[in-house]
Amino acid sequence: MTDEKHRQEQEDEEMISQGFQQLLESYLTSKHRRKVEIITKAFNFAKQAHKGVKRRSGEPYIMHPIAVAQIACSEIGLGSTSICAALLHDVVEDTDYTVEDIENLFGPKIAQIVDGLTKISGGIFGDRASAQAENFKKLLLTMNDDIRVILIKIADRLHNMRTLGSMLPNKQYKIAGETLYIYAPLAHRLGLNKIKTELEDLSFKYEHPEEYARIEDMLKESKEEREELFNEFTAPIREKLDKMGIKYRIMARVKSPYSIWNKMQTKHIPFEEIYDILAVRIIFDPKDLEEESNECFGIYVTISKIYRPHPDRLRDWVNHPKSNGYQALHVTLMSNKGQWIEVQIRSERMNDIAEQGFAAHWKYKDGPSHEDEGELEKWLHTIKEILDDPQPDAIDFLDTIKLNLFASEIFIFTPKGEIKTMPQNCTALDFAFSIHTFLGSHCIGAKVNHKLVPLSHKLKSGDQVEILTSKSQRVQPSWINFATTAKAKAKILAILKREQRSMQQKGEDKLQDFLKDAEIEFNDENVHKLCVLHELKSPEELFSSIGFKTITLGEADLNELRIKKTVANNWKKIIPFSFGGNKSDKEKEKSTSRTPASKIDSKKILKLTPEAIQKDFIIADCCKPIPGDDVLGYRDENERIIIHKRQCPIAAKLKTSFGNRILAAQWETGKALDFPVNLYIQGIDAMGILHQVADIVTEQLNVNIRKIFIETTDGLFEGHIQLYVHDVDDVKTIIANLRKIDEMKVVTRVEKFEDRP
Ligand code: MN
Repeated sequence: MTDEKHRQEQEDEEMISQGFQQLLESYLTSKHRRKVEIITKAFNFAKQAHKGVKRRSGEPYIMHPIAVAQIACSEIGLGSTSICAALLHDVVEDTDYTVEDIENLFGPKIAQIVDGLTKISGGIFGDRASAQAENFKKLLLTMNDDIRVILIKIADRLHNMRTLGSMLPNKQYKIAGETLYIYAPLAHRLGLNKIKTELEDLSFKYEHPEEYARIEDMLKESKEEREELFNEFTAPIREKLDKMGIKYRIMARVKSPYSIWNKMQTKHIPFEEIYDILAVRIIFDPKDLEEESNECFGIYVTISKIYRPHPDRLRDWVNHPKSNGYQALHVTLMSNKGQWIEVQIRSERMNDIAEQGFAAHWKYKDGPSHEDEGELEKWLHTIKEILDDPQPDAIDFLDTIKLNLFASEIFIFTPKGEIKTMPQNCTALDFAFSIHTFLGSHCIGAKVNHKLVPLSHKLKSGDQVEILTSKSQRVQPSWINFATTAKAKAKILAILKREQRSMQQKGEDKLQDFLKDAEIEFNDENVHKLCVLHELKSPEELFSSIGFKTITLGEADLNELRIKKTVANNWKKIIPFSFGGNKSDKEKEKSTSRTPASKIDSKKILKLTPEAIQKDFIIADCCKPIPGDDVLGYRDENERIIIHKRQCPIAAKLKTSFGNRILAAQWETGKALDFPVNLYIQGIDAMGILHQVADIVTEQLNVNIRKIFIETTDGLFEGHIQLYVHDVDDVKTIIANLRKIDEMKVVTRVEKFEDRP
C-alpha cells in the first residue's frame, strides 16, 4: 500500500468516527431513551457493509447514512429505531445483505422500516410514468404502515439535495424537479416546515443559480434596514411582555429566497415590493401547559394595544390546528413606519411542532398516541381512500395526490356548527364529498350562510355550508371542472368510470342485438367500420356512445356494413389502423434531417447554438424560452429535443415523470437570432401613452414590435405587446425603459399575448 493511499484511508477513518460521534452526542441530548448500544451496532454493520465504496463526492459511502441518521435525529427528532433504520437504509439496496439478515441482527421493527425504504428506493421515479406512480403509491402505502419510512426517506432526500453539487447537471434537474414536485409538498404536509423550506431553496438554487444569488444579495443588502425595523418594532413588545412576567424569546422570521422568488413570479412584482419579507415570532414558555392557548391570546391582547391589528388577519391555528399539526396565533399589526408586520405567537411546544412536525408530538407524549394524531390521521385516511380507487391515468393520480399535499386551509362550519378544515379555493361540491361520498354524488346545490348557491361556488373561511341533495341526482362529467380536492376528484372519476363501464356494456349488448336482428356478424371488422363511420377512436368509445345514447343505430349503420366485400377488405389500407401518431410526410422529412436525439450523450450539456436551434431543437410553445432564460432539454418519445424553461409547469411534470429524459442545456446564441416575447403593461391612461411606448421600443431601442393591444377603462390602460428580441438582456432593458414612463405602473414579461374583445 502506498503512503498516499494509507494516509487517505486514515483521514477517511477519522472523518467517519467524527461523524458518528456527533450523531451519538445529538442522540444523547435528545429526550429519547438511551439505546446507544444498538445504534453503535447498526453503525458498525453499515460501515462494514459499505466498506470501500465511495460517493461521487469522493467521501466514503458510510458518510451518507450517518448524515441521514443525523438529520432524522436532530432535525426531525426521531428515536433509536429510526436512527438505526437510517444508518442501514441503503444496505439491502446496495450490498448483498437481505432484509432477513437485518431482522436477525436488529429485530422486526427496524427490518420492516429498512424494507419499506428499499422498496421505494432507486428514486421514486423511474423511467416510465406509470412505474413511477406505482412507486409513489407504494411510498404512500408504507407511510400508512409506518410513517417513519417516509420521514427517513425525506431525510435521505434532504442529504442528497445538500450534496447535489457533485452530480451531473441533467441529474441535478431531475432530482431538484422531483424534490420540488413531491418531496417539499410531502414535507409540508407532514409539518416538517424547516425541511420543506430548505428543500425548496436547494431546488431553486440548482435550477436558477443566478436568480438565487441575486435574491440572496438583495436580502444581504436590506439586512441592516430589516434589523432596525425589527428592533424598533419589538422594543415596546418586549417591555410589555417583561412586565407581564412571561418567559419568551422574540425572533425575526425572514422569508426564504424561494418564497420571495415565487411571489415575485406569481405577482409580477420586484423584490422591493414584497412587504412580508420580515415577520416576527414570539415563542413563550407557558406557565401552565393547560393554559397555553389562553396565554397566546393574552399576548395577542397585549400587543394589539401597542399596534393596531389588521381586522381581517387574525388566524387562530391554536384552537384549530392545521392538518399537519401546525399551531400558532397569527396577527398582523401596523408598525409605526406604516408597514403591516405579521406576528406569530406560539409556545415552545407549538414551535417544535411547527419545525419538526408530526415527530415532535412524540416528545410530549409517551410514544405516538393514536388518539391524538388527529388531523394527520384523517389526511392519511383520505390518501388511503384515493389509493383504493383505481385511477385511470398515472399522471392524473400524481396530480390528484399533489393537490392534497400543498393546499392552504380554511374553516367551514356545518349546519350543526361543527368545524371542518378544507383547502383554500375549495367549492361546495368538494365540501359535500369531504363529508360523505353519498352526499357528494347526490348533491344538487348548497346553502352558504343560508343563501342558495351552485355546486361550483367557492367557499370562504367561516362560511356555514348546508349541502342539498336529491336521490335522483347523479355525478356529472362537468363536475370534474370544479372539484378541487383530491378526494372529490378521485371519487368523481371513479364513479364516472364505473358508469362508463356499465354504459359500455349496455352499448355493446345493444349493438349485438341490433346486428343480430339485421343478420350481420358482430366482429372486429364490422365494429371498426362503425367506429370510422361515427369518427370514434375505439370500440370502447363506440359502445359507450351507444350506451349513453349519443349515437342511435339506424339505416346508415346497416348500409355501411353492407357495402361490397372488396371495399371492406381494403379499408385498412385507406384508413390507418392506429389513429393519431401518424406524422405527415413533411414532418417525417424534418425529423430525419435532425440529429437523432438518441445519439446525444445525456451526460453532456446541450449547446443551444443558432444552428442547432434551427435544426436540432424545438423551442417549447408552452413557456417560449429565449436566450438568457434558465432552460433544460427534454427528449420526447419521438426522439425530438424540446427546450423548456426550467420553471415551466409542464417541464416540472416532465422532470418528475420522465426524469431520465431530461438533458442539461445552455444558450450559445449570442445575438444571432430573434425571438418573440410578450410583455404585459398597465398604468394610468394619459394622452399619447401608446405613442410613448412605441417610441421607446422602436426608436430608442431599435426593436421590432410585432403586435400590440391596449385597452382603456376608467382612466386605466392595460395591454400586451409582442416584440422580437435577442435575449433576456434585451427584455430587461426594454422593461426598465418602459418603467421610466410616469404613468406606467406595471411592465412585466408574460407567456401569452392576449387581446381580449
Ligand atoms: Mn440514501
